[in-house]
Amino acid sequence: METRSGMQDPRVQYPAPPFPRQPQPAPGLVGKMVPVPDHGESSYRGSGRLEGRKALVTGGDSGIGRAAAIAFAREGADVAIAYLPEEEADARDVIALILAEGRRGVALPGDIRDETWCHELVDMAVTALGGLDILVVNAGRQQFRETLEDLSSEDFDRTMKTNLYALYWITRAAVPYLAPGASVITTASIQAYRPSEILLDYATTKAGIVAYTKALAKQLIKKGVRANVVAPGPVWTALQPSGGQPEEKVEEFGKDSDFGRPAQPVELAPVYVLLASEEASFINGEVYGVTGGKGIG
Ligand code: NAD
Ligand code: MG
Repeated sequence: METRSGMQDPRVQYPAPPFPRQPQPAPGLVGKMVPVPDHGESSYRGSGRLEGRKALVTGGDSGIGRAAAIAFAREGADVAIAYLPEEEADARDVIALILAEGRRGVALPGDIRDETWCHELVDMAVTALGGLDILVVNAGRQQFRETLEDLSSEDFDRTMKTNLYALYWITRAAVPYLAPGASVITTASIQAYRPSEILLDYATTKAGIVAYTKALAKQLIKKGVRANVVAPGPVWTALQPSGGQPEEKVEEFGKDSDFGRPAQPVELAPVYVLLASEEASFINGEVYGVTGGKGIG
């Protein structure tokens, strides 16, 4: 709904529940979602804020990572995206959008639960881009389990490896390449502060990401490199209908935010752009909530 001067009422700017049931296997694919999420494909407009920068975004094929990748390219950055081989179709769409901006786009399929791959993907990004200025560690695993008994050691291990070990491995590999002015951004969640009972392992990793990034920020600023966290609330991404939530919760996803709807991935993009840019020169070790009103306090 447009008001005067083309302003939008944010409550009705994007789709609200009820959403149709749409189970799909993990990792989900964007094209199977109804409605298809807005990652900024036709809505994000850049203004040269990251001209000439070189960025690596894990989980850049879909969801929040895709929105960041598109925005970075529109702001003038070359972008490498890491993702799982099963997500090739989503990745190809993102690479095409990056190339359409006249930027370099680099595709890095592989499983970040493997330490060797984490090192390789960073090296490949650096080689293909000719350096690294912006690192977004955003890939994540979220699979709900109703009770502690349902949460297997294998589940727990997969979530820890994807969300925490890979963060450690990827930052460890990337830090030697980061020069003063570079920026590291991690994606945590409101779950770090308000954990759901069915996301015990996931919420634990998200709290870990906050602590890890804050500690890392203290180390990196000594090299002139900043590190910050984004903590989203409900965002309409493939993570949710592919086992992130029970289907009945997907149907009403985002309903209890102050907006009565979930965020679209593109609504997160401006925060990643800010934290990546030189305009964030005094912002370090911070957590940016984009929760839809619930807050991270
Ligand atoms: P998404 O499914 O679109 O993105 C997650 C990506 O993680 C996948 O696309 C996949 O490429 C990557 N990934 C997962 N396991 C991997 C593995 N083993 N190896 C390599 N890549 C792997 O969903 P999203 O919601 O955009 O998720 C991005 C981040 O946002 C995640 O860290 C998630 O926890 C966080 N987050 C999401 C929400 C939400 O409501 N959607 C809320 C808070 C935080
Ligand atoms: Mg994906």
